[in-house]
Amino acid sequence: MASADYTLHGAIAVITLEHAPVNALSLELRSGIAAGLERAAAAPEVRAIVITGGGTTTFCGGADVSEFGTPKMSAAPDLRSLCVLIERSPKPVIAALNGTALGGGLELAMACHYRIALASASLGLPEVKLGLLPGAGGTQRLPRLIAVDRALSMIVSGNPVPARDLAPSALLDLVVEEGVLGAALEFAARFAPEQDSPAKDALLARDTLKKARDRSVSLPNAEAFFDFARAAIAPLARNYPAPKKCIDAVEAAVLKPFDEGLALERELFVELLMSEESRALRHVFFATRTAAKVPGISADTPVRKVRSVAIIGAGTMGGGIAMAFANAGLEVTVLDATQGALDKGLGVVRRNYESTLKKGRLSQAEFERRVGAIRGSVAYEDIGSADLVIEAVFEDLEVKRTVFERLDAVMKPRAILASNTSTLDLNRIAAFTRRPEDVVGLHFFSPANVTRLLEIVRGARTAPDVLATSLALAKQIKKIGVVSGVCDGFIGNRMLNGFFQQMQLLLDVGALPQQIDRALENFGFMMGPFRVSDLAGNDIGWAIRKRHYLEHPERVYSRVPDRLCELGRFGQKTQAGWYDYKPGDRAAIPSDLVTNMILEESARLGLTRRAVSDEEIVERALYALINEGARVLEEGIALRASDIDIVYIAGYGFPDFRGGPMFYADTVGLPNILRSMRRFAQGYRGDTWTPAPLLTKLAAENRGFARWERPS
Ligand code: NAD
Repeated sequence: MASADYTLHGAIAVITLEHAPVNALSLELRSGIAAGLERAAAAPEVRAIVITGGGTTTFCGGADVSEFGTPKMSAAPDLRSLCVLIERSPKPVIAALNGTALGGGLELAMACHYRIALASASLGLPEVKLGLLPGAGGTQRLPRLIAVDRALSMIVSGNPVPARDLAPSALLDLVVEEGVLGAALEFAARFAPEQDSPAKDALLARDTLKKARDRSVSLPNAEAFFDFARAAIAPLARNYPAPKKCIDAVEAAVLKPFDEGLALERELFVELLMSEESRALRHVFFATRTAAKVPGISADTPVRKVRSVAIIGAGTMGGGIAMAFANAGLEVTVLDATQGALDKGLGVVRRNYESTLKKGRLSQAEFERRVGAIRGSVAYEDIGSADLVIEAVFEDLEVKRTVFERLDAVMKPRAILASNTSTLDLNRIAAFTRRPEDVVGLHFFSPANVTRLLEIVRGARTAPDVLATSLALAKQIKKIGVVSGVCDGFIGNRMLNGFFQQMQLLLDVGALPQQIDRALENFGFMMGPFRVSDLAGNDIGWAIRKRHYLEHPERVYSRVPDRLCELGRFGQKTQAGWYDYKPGDRAAIPSDLVTNMILEESARLGLTRRAVSDEEIVERALYALINEGARVLEEGIALRASDIDIVYIAGYGFPDFRGGPMFYADTVGLPNILRSMRRFAQGYRGDTWTPAPLLTKLAAENRGFARWERPS
């Protein structure tokens, strides 16, 4: 329930935004504010109006995102007309920024005649992060209230700034350390003279003219300034149209009268609202929030306390996971089988922190705290009292067995026992213990201290409170938790199999690694698949393939990746992989040796190599992902299509402006995808293109993945 509470403090009317948790500007709240303004205007005893936020930490978080795409968003009064209403108020309106003011919240405040802020309040216009620009006058008012370069940087980056850094300026008339409402009332008292007098009325009339729209912006050398700004965002501009339009709008604030600038802002806003990129980014925003909603888990589900964490295995993943927890303020003990392996692993962790310290991205005190938060041990007795233990030892079921049997013996009751396995059957791992309900998969992605994805693998017997705790933990360590069912590779890696298979088969028919990487990087992937393999180590995929050869002999494999590994070309770590590398340099250099190897393999297969277009590469890559995604969805491994999108964006460098593979599928249209897949099925190794039943079904019904729900 949202409301704008109206109270009188002597001659001052206070309108308090009440819409937990962030006072989002829903239609109800906007109507309430408008009604409050009207009431204050009509009351002769009211001399000034203060608008403030209910609750303690937020003035207003901006538009109500749940109204996006609904008629409510533009229903009267919309935010733009509310801003005009405030600006035209015959009585001065003072915003008391008691906390965060973002997006529409800051725009509303800028339409007020005065602003008093708490020094720590975060002020920002983050619309660009959703592929939009501030559409209620923000691009026109902010440059009139603070320095233009500052305003531009806030609007183009979307990053908030504490109020104390924005004063003194016309944006903030007063900044206080505490008691912002009291300060605002005191400020407003100047408009409520004890005794009316013609002189005071004159002062009042002059003062109330303080409207952002009336201020002019002066910027010598405006042309050079905006040229520079456009050049600075040029590398982004191809895939993200919003920053450029933000610059256009701010330029109008400088060069044009207010109302013309406002009209341009509106035009650009509507263009962005309709753009594919903004639709995708808004999808990602909602999908991220939806991922935390898991059937059977609610706010009432109990959560286990996690204060101390133990990690088994001080390798690549163990070290990164330890850092993720230490960074979030938890105490971590890392255990390895030998002192040598432990020292090596902790050494890597320390060097990682040292390099961040050297780059100035970590204070000395924080460096010491983080390094100090991670202890090492080789004795299981040392970790028995930890609330959570995460196993990150070799990817071998027998090694996992010895570890989990040991953990079952030493860990205190109700400790959560997690595995970071990438591919193994979590239910079998859980069965190594006498407490499968305490076992869950916590699948981190390398580098684990950086990559935002955490796949939370729900075993057949995982207890609801263990799952709820895992979701809460993900948030605590600033990861995006996505729940996955148990299968080989879970959501992300399972879908990767078909994708790699298709990319490798393309080598046989005519493409080269560098062409495939470039095509997919142009599509927006952070890195193409061959560069990724060289970074992760080709030997890892080799080991997985060897297991797959035994478990899935029926699958189609290209021989090229194995031949590469047989030559010891494991990637960057051996300075040779799909590419050549110079010592100490990560730049990937196309390799003649690899090219010859690929050509030889085509000849051996009796294939006449053909030109492969970039478009075909992208289609094959994406449709392979989407096809397996459809299976993952239909089997209930992923709870919903948008979870798959988040896995790929947060864990695999999938471009967010494409919305994730399943969102992308819906934009291409499933019948179109199916048609291409049928065409591929006619070509080389066409047997690898069996459409998933769900894809075929939805395509026939001309539906998309977004709204599909698994029949329960
Ligand atoms: P790694 O080889 O770098 O490290 C494994 C560590 O475990 C080594 O330090 C080793 O000494 C230690 N170890 C082995 N047996 C042990 C035992 N019985 N008791 C205690 N310590 C033992 O491996 P990694 O890349 O960190 O992978 C670890 C796990 O994480 C695997 O299950 C892997 O599938 C998974 N994983 C890896 C990645 C990745 O990109 N490397 C990503 C996600 C998940």
